[in-house]
Amino acid sequence: MRKVVVLAKQVPDTANIAADAMKEDGTVNRGALPAIFNPEDLNALEMALQVKEQLGCEVHVITMGPNTATAVLKHSLYLGADKVWLVSDRKFAGADTLATSQVLAKAIQHVGDVSMVFAGRQAIDGDTAQVGPQVANLLDFNLVAFATELKSVSAEHITVARDAEVQTEVIQAPFPVLITVSHEANSPRYPNATRMLKYFRDDIAIPTLDRETLNIPEELCGLKGSPTKVFAIKNIQLTGGAHQMYEGANDGIRALVRDIVKDYTEV
Ligand SMILES: Cc1cc2nc3c(=O)[nH]c(=O)nc-3n(C[C@H](O)[C@H](O)[C@H](O)COP(=O)(O)OP(=O)(O)OC[C@H]3O[C@@H](n4cnc5c(N)ncnc54)[C@H](O)[C@@H]3O)c2cc1C
Repeated sequence: MRKVVVLAKQVPDTANIAADAMKEDGTVNRGALPAIFNPEDLNALEMALQVKEQLGCEVHVITMGPNTATAVLKHSLYLGADKVWLVSDRKFAGADTLATSQVLAKAIQHVGDVSMVFAGRQAIDGDTAQVGPQVANLLDFNLVAFATELKSVSAEHITVARDAEVQTEVIQAPFPVLITVSHEANSPRYPNATRMLKYFRDDIAIPTLDRETLNIPEELCGLKGSPTKVFAIKNIQLTGGAHQMYEGANDGIRALVRDIVKDYTEV
């Protein structure tokens, strides 16, 4: 059966930042933020599940991260994934986007016989949008970035619309292909109750792929395989500017108009 892979990342919920979200040294205090499914990876999984419904294929979800990232994999099973893989090894720590992509590309090869890979456009923590294109390059797959709509899929190719900033392009791509999916592409489905009952248990075995299993040389992964190094981190505090409140009644509106005219005539 045709295999489709979705790359899903567990990320800190950067939409709900509290005061203790950053450490003194400017790094993210991951313990203070809930870990969530990277939002656009849910759109990627939704597109893969729609492909499955139209074409009939097996959907595999891969995440690279610590053991806690299995939460993302379980959620994928609730939504309709057929098989999930945790990619984890201490040697993967400190990976930049290239080292991350090397490992993910090897994991996709391990799944074997994959014709389509779906990734999110961007992760909300690292924010680089580099991983999808790098994985496509390493695997020598065709690449369509920033897909905003699944148009159709057939045995030979997939057709998607993509955001090209000033216009929307419709691209028909032959397999094998990697598609990065943007949040406009679809509304992710809700978890299926029957699947939740089946996969909720703690004893669900999730296969883990480590460096040795994937046969990745140490110099290609983790800190050793990362050509970029963080030079310095600056903690930016956003502060609000001065503001003036006006009452939503006649006096307030009169004062607002007077101040606007004053500002205009003083320029
Ligand atoms: C020098 C350096 C050191 C770093 N050290 C660490 C570290 O020690 N620990 C750490 O946690 N991070 C570290 N990072 C961050 C890490 O490199 C990125 O989180 C990771 O490479 C993904 O990049 P991104 O978040 O920009 O993803 P993007 O490129 O924005 O992600 C695009 C898509 O790729 C897929 N994807 C990305 N990452 C994964 C993943 N892990 N599993 C599955 N799919 C994925 C998802 O589909 C995602 O939507 C470091 C980065 C740098 C530059």
